[in-house]
Amino acid sequence: VDSELYPTDRPGRVAEATRGAGLSALLLTPGPELRYVTGYDAHQLERLTCLVVPADGTSFLVVPRLELPAAQAAGVARLGVELVAWHETDDPYELVAARLRAAAGDVGRVGLADRMWAMMVLRLRAVLPGMEQTLAGPVLRGLRMRKSLAEVAALAEAAAAIDRVHDRVPGLLRAGRSEREVGADIAAAILAEGHTRVDFTIVASGPNAASPHHELSGRVLTRGDVVVVDIGGTMPSGYCSDSTRTYAIGEPPAEFTAYYEVLRDAQEAACTAVRPGVSAESVDATARDLITQAGYGEFFIHRTGHGIGLESHEDPYIVAGNAEPLAPGMAFSVEPGIYPGEHGARIEDIVVCTEQGALRLNNSSRDLVIV
Ligand code: ZN
Ligand code: ZN
Repeated sequence: VDSELYPTDRPGRVAEATRGAGLSALLLTPGPELRYVTGYDAHQLERLTCLVVPADGTSFLVVPRLELPAAQAAGVARLGVELVAWHETDDPYELVAARLRAAAGDVGRVGLADRMWAMMVLRLRAVLPGMEQTLAGPVLRGLRMRKSLAEVAALAEAAAAIDRVHDRVPGLLRAGRSEREVGADIAAAILAEGHTRVDFTIVASGPNAASPHHELSGRVLTRGDVVVVDIGGTMPSGYCSDSTRTYAIGEPPAEFTAYYEVLRDAQEAACTAVRPGVSAESVDATARDLITQAGYGEFFIHRTGHGIGLESHEDPYIVAGNAEPLAPGMAFSVEPGIYPGEHGARIEDIVVCTEQGALRLNNSSRDLVIV
């Protein structure tokens, strides 16, 4: 585990945030929160792995005995986190309860990992009936949204990797190939360029381009198609990539070229609008107003962006209603789209808010690439 990315003071800072939120502990099963605190990419299994971060006292990781070597290899002990292994016939929930009572006395309110499995939520409730369960996400939100320099570097590494994949895409898009064939090649390229996991491959051609979350189908690419390619994966660091470019196979329809120019200007303007103190919703409005003024407002059917880090979608969301002021270190996508129906387009970059404005992490060409 990279000690700059997952620093040794992180459990302490998370404990401080837990105290500040008036909770007695966080209980984190495998997922992005547990990884954020420790760097440990634990498996989500029916056997309980649970990191307990008490507001006061030492954090501990309850871990199945057979997973202990993996937890040790991840360097969890380096952070001062105590490893508590349980054997197949032990009750790990009773173990959590006993140690939590010893650490926190009256257990009170605890924050659970946002996507802890319901079976675990209910078992914990059964062994700690006096405990009030709430979510850990809001406690960690402020810390996770403001990326450290090491986290920004990890996101930049992810972005550079997905840019290299986009550089290969024109060579993969040919009339006569299906979206699925192209998608399989892109998935292989995502891994070849350094990701450990393919998170999504959207190859949306022709009318499918008008469906923002279309993934892959058997549709065969034909001349005159517009193809929206939105791809992302997870790097060994745990940090994610996500970038969209729109391609055309041969000359696209004239009405497409007209709105693609509008989209490119709107995406550019939204990136330029990013700076500390500006609200998340105003970045959305910057893109949306330009698209609306050009007459395509009804075809921009999603928010402008989402935060990214250990998850490909996390806070802050760049959407109307989110008055959150942007701050240095926040990383998010800027991805307006226009989807009239016959075809569609989206351009997506990951940007980081800095004192000087937006730092764009994706830098492959935003011009319409005609293959
Ligand atoms: Zn995307
Ligand atoms: Zn995205």
